[in-house]
Parts: sequence; structure tokens; C-alpha cells
Amino acid sequence: AAPTPEAASAVRTHCPYCALQCAMTLTPVVPPVAGGPGRSPAGSGAPPVTVAPRAFPTNRGGLCQKGWTSATLLSVPDRLLVPQVRGADGALHDATWDAALDLIASRVTTLQAEHGRGAVAVFGGGGLTNEKAYALGKFARTVLRTPDIDYNGRFCMASAAAASNRSLGLDRGLPFPLADLSGTTHDGLAPGAQAVLLLGSNLAETMPPSVQHLEPARAAGGLVVVDPRRSATARLTDDGKGVHLQPVPGTDLVVLLALLHVVITEGLVDAEYVAARTTGFDDVRRSVAAWWPERAETVCGVPADELRRVARLLADASPARGGRGAYVLTGRGVEQSTQGTATVTAAIDLALCLGLVGRVGSGYGAVTGQGNGQGGREHGQKADQLPGYRKIDDPAARAHVAAVWGVDPDSIPGPGRPAVELLRSLGTPDGPRALLVHGSNLVVSAPDADRVVERLRSLDLLVVCDLVPSETALLADVVLPVTQWAEEEGTTTSLEGRVLRRRRAVDAPGEARSELWLLAELARRLGSDVAFPTDPAVVFDELARASAGGVADYSGLSHALLDAADPAEQADPVDASDPAGHGAAGLHWPVPDAHGPVTGTPRAFLDTFPTPDGRARLIAVDHVGPSDDLRPDAPVYLVTGRVLQHYQSGAQTHRVPELERIVPEPFVELHPVLGDRVGVADGETVELESARGTLRARARWTDRIRPDTVFVPFHWAGEGSVNRLTTDATDPVSKMPEFKVCAVAVRAVPAA
Ligand code: SF4
Repeated sequence: AAPTPEAASAVRTHCPYCALQCAMTLTPVVPPVAGGPGRSPAGSGAPPVTVAPRAFPTNRGGLCQKGWTSATLLSVPDRLLVPQVRGADGALHDATWDAALDLIASRVTTLQAEHGRGAVAVFGGGGLTNEKAYALGKFARTVLRTPDIDYNGRFCMASAAAASNRSLGLDRGLPFPLADLSGTTHDGLAPGAQAVLLLGSNLAETMPPSVQHLEPARAAGGLVVVDPRRSATARLTDDGKGVHLQPVPGTDLVVLLALLHVVITEGLVDAEYVAARTTGFDDVRRSVAAWWPERAETVCGVPADELRRVARLLADASPARGGRGAYVLTGRGVEQSTQGTATVTAAIDLALCLGLVGRVGSGYGAVTGQGNGQGGREHGQKADQLPGYRKIDDPAARAHVAAVWGVDPDSIPGPGRPAVELLRSLGTPDGPRALLVHGSNLVVSAPDADRVVERLRSLDLLVVCDLVPSETALLADVVLPVTQWAEEEGTTTSLEGRVLRRRRAVDAPGEARSELWLLAELARRLGSDVAFPTDPAVVFDELARASAGGVADYSGLSHALLDAADPAEQADPVDASDPAGHGAAGLHWPVPDAHGPVTGTPRAFLDTFPTPDGRARLIAVDHVGPSDDLRPDAPVYLVTGRVLQHYQSGAQTHRVPELERIVPEPFVELHPVLGDRVGVADGETVELESARGTLRARARWTDRIRPDTVFVPFHWAGEGSVNRLTTDATDPVSKMPEFKVCAVAVRAVPAA
């Protein structure tokens, strides 16, 4: 195909990976390689564009190694170029789009005729653009008319979302600009935090450019990192720059309950704020009375004196006590737990008691992980939600969305099964017989992964849309090659609720097509008369209408308006006169259609909370402990996490040689004391066994981890896949699985 005019010029977009959504400029390689400007021959391995960082409030001209090398994703050698269908010989064979889509439509029709609408389920992803996430939810509800659609954000953000919605009436990852922490927001209202309590987030590895925003708190000695490992982020507290609390895995909630106990018993509560803006204080006061620091220490292992010191440090930074401001931030380390919602609730309770939430320069926020983890949960690919972040069982929401879709409200199914329950149900008598997977590599990223593989194999039809032959795609009956990131137009919503434009820099290789196109084609083949536009700008306009009046209201936005908010004349890669990129700021939702100047909402809760009485809710919670706790045959905690060079299941980053060379294989971090005890030296192969599976990987000795704990990153499949060990027990409220802690045996590998 002839290159498009846009593909021949530099393109301003954002990183394909995490929710920081660092701004970057892609410039097609000149002179053009064969295939035309902005396009390299598929599979050449030669990136068709160069990447340069761009000024922007979150990354301020920075990129991490993943961002710098992201162009390599556009020319990976094994990129999927044509549809594939599994043949009678059991192998995947190239097919035409018509043949692949006809096959899917025919089998979906047959399965639904035999087993009902619920015979087909959909699994989405937090990496899909807002437009794709919206179209996928609409497709499931109006074409398949199945209740069962959920997505991998259930593994990522569900506990923080559930707790924020319950306590604050709204879940927008960070309900304030990240730059408020560093005092670099363009309006100059936030002075820069004096203290930051960071629970369960290794920002220095997962989103390195964000660390610069911790600097004022570090400089004030007010950075507090809670992590069982002395992670790269925890080491930022060295040299008197803050405090690292290293609790027993699964006891973060006890740390928070003890902090609340100290704040309340030492009279550090912002009483005026609590009286004016919250309810439920007495319940929380009574519930934390049992968690005095010495008792908490016996459970969480953090010295009582440290707990008191941190509580006072946070209180001293609060505006009520004349401080410059404080933030409480949570990440997956405390959220991926059977008490994740309770833990985030306690974090919010702490922030509310200190009077931090809804004040410029202070607050509570959850650090979203996936690139569009925020937008992915707002537009209707979640089991219990419709676009606008509205509940699917709310009659008014159903009527509004049905009118936009042109369907009868009663035809929209009710809530479906959340992700883990959906995966458990696959192939069972009451469960789906077919699954359409978009943007998820479940074989690597789902808990209790061996069972997931068994269930995927038991299906009558597994369809996977992906860029590359991921481990999940290799199990599929039909594989559909889709466009990615720099090959498409659209929007994402960053960790601070900022809606951003993703722009096309190159043409897609081979026959890769957008999910918007293939969903429209499938809808037509399945006999639906519901319209599925394929132009992302048109889909966005519909999404905006569907969101109108909802919590996440995009109705005042359009691609054109977002383009106007991101002026192309700004100098690249970093404008010396505007290093923070104030001129490229996007817009934070909610952005209702006000028929006037559109400003967005950078800071939520300043006047009121979106709850029935306008107040935040303090909610009493208590510690229960992990679902799979230590026992004689599994006496060591396993915690899972990430490394800087790899993203999620590694389907993308394992294919980037510059990243793969640095961390080419999984590893097990263990303390030398534990290594000696089990007879595993540094560099030897170690075996871990949980109640669900076994893992073998190379041992890495480090004194940065507790001697009762091992750590394994989750980016690999096969023998080193840590999710073969993790439990699929879930939080009772959010239904998020407990990735972060389980009990394992640790042993040397017997000689062959
Ligand atoms: Fe991309 Fe996140 Fe790295 Fe920024 S921090 S370059 S968004 S992966």
C-alpha cells in the first residue's frame, strides 16, 4: 500500500507500554527502507521509526529503556501478518480474513444456538485504546449478548478501583496531576510534597521517569516506601532521604492500621476536615484501637518505633499541621491480595484522617500500571460496567447506553463473571464454550496458570487477537493479526485520568487490521444491525455520548479537541522554554459537554465527593492474612513482581533484543541465609513448589529481601513461569487475585 501523508512526517504520540504514557515523537527512518516511508518490510527487525522523548508533565522529557526501544516492536521478526486457523492436523495454518471470520461466526452461531448466549465469552485488555475497549464491550453486549466479558485489569487495578469507588465515590487512579507531587504543575498551585507514603509500588523499575516527582519528599526526608524487598524504589530512601518499612508479605494492612492507630491516639487527626468532609470516623477509631504499634509489630515485623515515626512524619507534612503536603499512594504490591480492597480502604482512611484528600498538594492515589489501565476500566469491558464507568445494573445507565447503541435496554445482559471466575468456568457445564481474547496473554499473566491452560484447551473455540504468537495465541483455534500502537489512531487515559491522543506513524504490516474493523466484520457476519464504526474518531464521539452523565464523563471531548490541546508547534524533543510540557497536557476527565471552553478536571474532590451526601466514607477494615499462608511443607513466602526491562507477560519485550539481553531469563531472588539453609548457591538452579505447581529458575542471592521470602518476576512462560505457583483466590469485593503472596517450598534441584 502507498504510504499515507501522515506517515511521512514526525508523529507526536505516547509510549506503548505503561500508564505513565510518556510522551514521545516518532520519526520515520530516512531514507525510506523498501516499502516506503514509515514502513519497514515486515519482520526485518529494523525499526521503521526513531524514538525521541517529548516534553510532557509526567515524564518531563524522560523515557525508560522500554520506551527508548519501543520502535523495535514495529518490526519484530515473528509479527503476525495474516490470520491463522488450526487445521485437522492440529497445526495453525495461514488463512484469509474471510475464511477466519466466517469460521468464527459460524462456530459462535452454532454454540449459542446449542448452549445459549452465555456460550461465548470475551476477555479484553488494559492495553487496548479507549475506542477498542468501548467497541469490545458494545460487541459483547449487543452482538454476542453475553454477560461474560471481563479483562485483565481485574488482575491489575480492581482492588484500588473498588476501594476508591466505595470510599470516595470515584476511581481515577491519581485524582490529581502527578506533577503536583514535585510542585511542577503548570498552575503552580501545589508546592511539592513534603512526604509521600508509597505502598507496594516499585516506581524506580516500573516507571522510572516518575521518580523525579518524588524528589521534594525525598529532599525533605519524607519518602516512605513499604515493600518486603529493598527494591530500587526502597533504596531511594537511603542516606536519610526517608524510611523503608519491610513488612512480612501479606501484612501491609497491619502497617496501615498501626499508622491509623498512632494518628488517632496521638491526636494527629485533622479533626476539622474529618468533621466537615467525612463520615464513619468513630467506626475507624474503634477498629484500629486493637492495632497499637507493639502488637502490629508482632504480625507485620515492622518495629513499633518505625511505625510511630512514620505516622508522625506524615502528620507533620499535612496541611492541618502546617506541612507542605503529603500523599498516600498504593500499587499492585498491596492491591493484588485477598485483602486488597481492605488495604486500599485503610490507606484512604489514613489519608482522610490526615485531611489530605481533595486538597491541592496532598491526596490519595493508586498508581495504575497498564498503558490504558485507567481508560480500559471506564468504557464497558468490565463485567459489571457500562461506558462512563457506570454500573450495568443501574436502570438509568442501561437506558442511556441502550439509546446510544440503538438497542432495547432489556436486551443488554446483566453483570457477568469477573475474570478469575470466568476463567474457572471455561469448559464447565455452566460455563462458556468459546472465548475471544483481545490484548491478553492469559497463559503467562493469569494466576494458577497450569489450570488456565487446561481450561483454554477444553474450549470448543478459542480466538486470540494479537501482534505476535503469544503463548495464549499458540493455543488458539483462530489467531487474528491486529494493529498496534504506532500503526493506529486513538486515545488512551493515563494514570492521572488524562485523556491522550495515540497517533499513527506507520502503516501496519501484512494483513494486520484494527480490532475496530474485525469487530464490525464479525457483527455483520453474525447478523447484527447495530452499527460498528471503524474510524477511531467516530468511535470516540460515540463513546463520549455513551459516557455523558457517567462518572467518567468524556462528553466534552473529541479527537479534534484533544489534538488542539496538544499543539504540534511545540519544539521537540524537549522544549527548553517549557520543560514540563505544559503546552501538551491533554485533558483530565470528567470533561462534561459544557457547550463552552473545555478545561477538564485535573484535581478531583476539591469541593465535594461524588457520594450521596458529598462526604468521603471512612470505613473500618481488619486484617485477615493471606489465603495461602506459611505451613510446614511450604515455609517461605513467594512474592511476584516486575523488572525494568520487561512489561507484563513479556510478549512484547522478550522480542526486543536490547531488553532481552539484559534480563534473558527468570530468576529467584533469595537471601543468602535462606540459600544456605536450603543448599542453593548464588547462580544455581532453585526449585519452588506451591500447592499448585513447580518452578525452576536461577537463584540470585541478595540481602535486599527478607530471609523468609523469595521474589520472582512474572514475565515468563514455561518452567520459569511464576504464575504456575500463584493462587487464584480472590478479594471478596474486587475479585482481584492474590498474586503477591503465597506459600512455597524452596529446594535445591536434585542432580540428574
Ligand atoms: Fe514507557 Fe512507562 Fe517507560 Fe514511560 S515509564 S517510557 S510510559 S514504559
